[in-house]
Amino acid sequence: MLNGQLEKMEEFDQPAYRIAMAYFDSAARLMHLDPNLYERFKTPQRALIVSVPIRRQDDRVQVFRGYRVQHNSALGPFKGGIRYHPGVNLGEVAALAMWMTWKCALVGLPFGGAKGGIRCDPDTLSRAELQRLTRRYTSEIFPIIGPDKDIPAPDIGTNEQIMAWMMDTYSQHVGYAIPGVVTGKPISIGGSMGREDATGRGLAFTILEAMRHLSISASGSTAVIQGFGNVGKHAARILSGYGIRIVGVGDAKGCLLHEGGFDISRLLNYTAREGTVIGFPEGESLSPAALITQPCTVLIPAAVSGMINLENAAQLQCRILAEGANLATDFEADAILNDRGVFVIPDILANAGGVIVSYFEWVQDLQNYFWKEKEIQDRLAEVMTGTFAHVLSRSLSEKTEMRMTALMIAIEKLATAHLARGLYP
Ligand code: GLU
Repeated sequence: MLNGQLEKMEEFDQPAYRIAMAYFDSAARLMHLDPNLYERFKTPQRALIVSVPIRRQDDRVQVFRGYRVQHNSALGPFKGGIRYHPGVNLGEVAALAMWMTWKCALVGLPFGGAKGGIRCDPDTLSRAELQRLTRRYTSEIFPIIGPDKDIPAPDIGTNEQIMAWMMDTYSQHVGYAIPGVVTGKPISIGGSMGREDATGRGLAFTILEAMRHLSISASGSTAVIQGFGNVGKHAARILSGYGIRIVGVGDAKGCLLHEGGFDISRLLNYTAREGTVIGFPEGESLSPAALITQPCTVLIPAAVSGMINLENAAQLQCRILAEGANLATDFEADAILNDRGVFVIPDILANAGGVIVSYFEWVQDLQNYFWKEKEIQDRLAEVMTGTFAHVLSRSLSEKTEMRMTALMIAIEKLATAHLARGLYP
């Protein structure tokens, strides 16, 4: 009984983990992954659960639950974001940690995957409470992070201010400034040019490459973006610069449709002020379900996991699905998209721009030598378009979908490293 339960890894058994495992299993089967390696890759190397007590404004002490999961370090130090969201749990963080392993391996970064998070609703916390929460969480995970060990970054619900508090807390513990402990920091304390819009920019590069492959011209194309946070808003700005009309946008509060295409700089000014797309004078409001199924050239899910699922996969009317969000598509929904001929740019490729520029930030911090924005954008473009071309050519020659091809390339790289390093002891 006990063995049976452990076999099922019930500690991690959450929807996001099930999606990640289903994809990993199917890639492992397709590539005939060595069963010894399969066993090692399917669970994280280390998972830490911490209690994070903070004093609230009303003097009460509230204890939050925090996590840091480190999936695999065969290729280098652990790397991955910190998520503040009410849905954060061990299984989700473990799934996203594994996803960081594949993402870093796919694009050739010398990192292993990790992810962290706190189960909380950051919108209900004051700035002072958020600062206390971040500092206490950082000191609880202090023993396992560091510029040579594990380097956190922003994710859903966190930003450069949270990274600044993490960097400061870590540095205070050690006794001197250690900028390389986190990425996605403000420029003033060792952040990198081009990090903030890197995920959106990388996403745009892969979309333009997919359009080139499918012989679709950018002018005359349309995009629908679900999720208007750091990823969605920069993708909107950059894509509209290439002449792609943004006809639909949505966030947690509501969705808008404007067939003529939104004036993106006005929309960005509005959302910066109001914190939502709702109330913007252009376009009319529609339901989240209707937004996802709008006819468009490119659909960009850029919010939480599982937004493309069995309820909507058969109704999508996009030619390209570009996954800004990690684990954007449920496993069963993916098969429907493939049958329907939707060209999928999978998450570990589509949204890798963020961690690529995080890598550049870390290298700059370690060398105390900072690059110009153009240099960063050119190198980002080179990695994104090079990886896209590699995945596409293997996908075409092996007649395997882009998602499975990307996963197999990543798993192969990790497998090679494991076989070279051998099993300790
Ligand atoms: N949270 C981002 C991701 O999921 C960035 C991670 C990083 O920069 O380390 O890729």
